[in-house]
Amino acid sequence: MIESRAPGRLIYTPGEIADAVGKLALRIAWDYRRKPLVLLGVLKGALYLTVDLARAIAQIADGPSEIVVDYLCVGSYGMSDRSDGQVRLLMDASVQVTNRDVVLVDDIADKGYTLGFLQTLLKERAPASLRTCVLFDKPSARVVEVPLEYVGLPAPDAFVVGYGLDYQERFRSLPYVAAIDPKTKEESSSPST
Ligand code: 5GP
Ligand code: MG
Repeated sequence: MIESRAPGRLIYTPGEIADAVGKLALRIAWDYRRKPLVLLGVLKGALYLTVDLARAIAQIADGPSEIVVDYLCVGSYGMSDRSDGQVRLLMDASVQVTNRDVVLVDDIADKGYTLGFLQTLLKERAPASLRTCVLFDKPSARVVEVPLEYVGLPAPDAFVVGYGLDYQERFRSLPYVAAIDPKTKEESSSPST
C-alpha cells in the first residue's frame, strides 16, 4: 500500500464498502430503468464513490438507458475537515441538469450544510427530478434537514477517513474506512472539500 495506515480503528472493510455500493447501484438502476440518468459527484470526497457507483449501475441489466457522470466541487471554511455552514461552489458541473433526472452523489452527510447548499443550487436549475445518494450518514450530527433518498451505511459519531474521505488531504485513497482519534487531530483554518 502506498499510503500510510490511518491512525484509527477500522469501521468498514473494502468488502463491506463494495457491498454497500452494489446495493445502492441496484436501487438506483431500478429507479431509473430505461431512463437517462445524470450522476453528479461532489468532489473531492465522492471521487471514488461516483466512479464505482456509475460502473456498478452500468453493469446492471435493464438499468438506466444512459448514464452521464459529472462532478462539482464545494469547499467550506471553519475546521479544516468539517463544514460550518459557509459552503461555496469551487467548481460547477458542466452538464446541463434542466429537465433531466439527477442523482447527487456525496461521501457523507454530516451536519447537512453541504447537501442543503447543493440541493438548493441544483433545484434552481429545474431538473426533472433530484435525489441524493450518500455512502455514509451521521444522522445524529444533522443541523440542516436534507432529503437523502439513497443511504449506504451508518457512520459512527467520529471523524472517518478512507474511500475518498480525507483528513487534510491524507488517507483519501485508503481502500477501507477508519475512524481517527480526535486527539490526533488539530484544528486548522484551511478549506476542506
Ligand atoms: P456537512 O456539510 O454535512 O456538515 O459536511 C459534509 C462534508 O464534510 C462531507 O462532504 C465531508 O467532506 C466533510 N465531512 C463530514 N464528516 C466527515 C468525516 O467524518 N470525515 C471526513 N473525512 N469528512 C467529513
Ligand atoms: Mg464532501
